[in-house]
Amino acid sequence: MEGQVTTNAASSRTKRVAPDGAPSHDPGAAAANADRLAELIGESECTVALTGAGISVPSGIPDFRTPGKGLWEKVDPMEVAHIDAFRGDPKRFWSFYRPRLHGLSEFAPNPAHEALAELERSGLLEAVITQNIDTLHHKAGSERVIEVHGSIRTASCQVCDATYELAAVEELFDDDGVAVCRGCTSLVKPDVVLFGELLPAEAMAEAEALASRADLLLCVGSSLEVYPVAGLPSTTLARGGRIAIVTQGPTPYDGDAAVRLDGDVAEELSAVVAALS
Ligand code: ZN
Repeated sequence: MEGQVTTNAASSRTKRVAPDGAPSHDPGAAAANADRLAELIGESECTVALTGAGISVPSGIPDFRTPGKGLWEKVDPMEVAHIDAFRGDPKRFWSFYRPRLHGLSEFAPNPAHEALAELERSGLLEAVITQNIDTLHHKAGSERVIEVHGSIRTASCQVCDATYELAAVEELFDDDGVAVCRGCTSLVKPDVVLFGELLPAEAMAEAEALASRADLLLCVGSSLEVYPVAGLPSTTLARGGRIAIVTQGPTPYDGDAAVRLDGDVAEELSAVVAALS
């Protein structure tokens, strides 16, 4: 994720261990869980996926929350990838963000992204709601993707609303390394949600509607701790739907999950798709 206003954990929920308590290195238990998830997807009338940084880790994009990895180690993202930094010191913002923008555009989707695209093609998945800005779901062939944190695909002028494709952004930089609008010379900002910014209302409304309609919410690679996205599983559960979790590491919803897979997301989802075909 790139950031949002509230980052408090799901403190009102009790943290519980995975219901089956099965260790991830037990191949028998792992296969049984993949089969169980395949079964749940097969039974479901409306399955929606919710993905976070963990689904892009096998593509080589580090989750900045993982200690010891990536460029977030050197800077405080809350400070530099903050809307106030963009407005107050665009030169510093872009010195950090320009290489990130281009770096992110070079990654390729992995089998976990491909598995979700395959499920959608097979009519088994309604949509993907993602916290990721890397566009890898689109690259993998997913059609209905709700990017609740925006994406690197475009950047927009903050005054005249001119929009530039990622490939064209590089031509907008002035001598200070700040991207400025060709039309009105105002600041151009990547269309990602920075820290301190609200999530796009339209995308969040669509995500809420999907979560409330889903009878299975398939949560992949998200710690489910960052609101408001972390509230979506509650929405599904409150409407009588089930949630499945495919994520390494604990989430506040582990005790509510109908099934929990905690191995490598690419291997787990490939196994699920294989079990369905
Ligand atoms: Zn402009």
